[in-house]
Amino acid sequence: MISYLSAALVLIGLLIHVATLVPLRKLLAMIPDGSLRTKWLAMTGLILVFIASYLGYLVVFWGQQTAWHEVLTPCIFLFGAIFVWQTIKLSLQTAADLRRIDLLEAENITDPLTKVYNRRYLDRRLEEEVARSRRYALGLSILLLDIDHFKRVNDTYGHQAGDVALSVLGSLLKADLRDLDVVARYGGEEFLVICTNTGIDGAALVAERLRHLIESYPVEIADASGASQNIQISISVGVAGLSASVDSKEKLVQAADRALYRAKGDGRNRVVVASSAT
Ligand code: GH3
Ligand code: MG
Ligand code: MG
Repeated sequence: MISYLSAALVLIGLLIHVATLVPLRKLLAMIPDGSLRTKWLAMTGLILVFIASYLGYLVVFWGQQTAWHEVLTPCIFLFGAIFVWQTIKLSLQTAADLRRIDLLEAENITDPLTKVYNRRYLDRRLEEEVARSRRYALGLSILLLDIDHFKRVNDTYGHQAGDVALSVLGSLLKADLRDLDVVARYGGEEFLVICTNTGIDGAALVAERLRHLIESYPVEIADASGASQNIQISISVGVAGLSASVDSKEKLVQAADRALYRAKGDGRNRVVVASSAT
């Protein structure tokens, strides 16, 4: 009876170790290649060693337990297995929770249509970038982009086609700009780019490059009847940089906005650079 109980405890422990391999596999699937993954692979190896040891114990000590104190070792085997199971399950849950939080955080700062940053993130980030640039005397410029005659796109091809154009523009901006630059949707069909560590002359070149890229990029849309066709859009851009007089986030955006207004007034599809005195 005591020996059967001991064998049963060790066997249950062994099965728990085998079952642990399932959450462990799920956990491994969530971890990218790297040292952490290597450590979890080593953990899998350890569990296999446990399984072999439990099997060895069952074979070698089969039917040998006759006194109650000899059940202590199988009990330790069982609780050891439960501990490992709980540890892996908790790790999996923690990893899943962290991933969910990551996703929520990303959603919280991303514009769902264009996949660039949203206004909430932009406001915070621009404030930080202005403070950093002033403190370390670094260049900082922004581009305020607005699609030309976008209402016409909506009116001619439908709102959905307009949405496609916005989303294409978001992708083009993200693909063309440096990783260090920040692209955000400022409003309806307006985007704001923060060019970190960049003076106004450099930013003007970036703006001109973007303007040219967009005017020559065929945007594929489906019109109201569902037929696919390419349309062309253009943007007007206002460029402004931090300077002695433009020394705050509000003044920077105001200067870019005024430059954009001039670009519209001058005929659209053009870049206007705010003078540093604005
Ligand atoms: P301008 O060259 O002066 O900028 O002319 P515009 O027609 O682009 O400017 P206006 O401000 O008159 O119109 C902006 C249009 O952008 C109107 C609005 O319906 C459209 N718009 C804003 N947000 C969205 C959106 O999320 N999706 C779509 N499809 N259209 C949008
Ligand atoms: Mg606009
Ligand atoms: Mg517009």
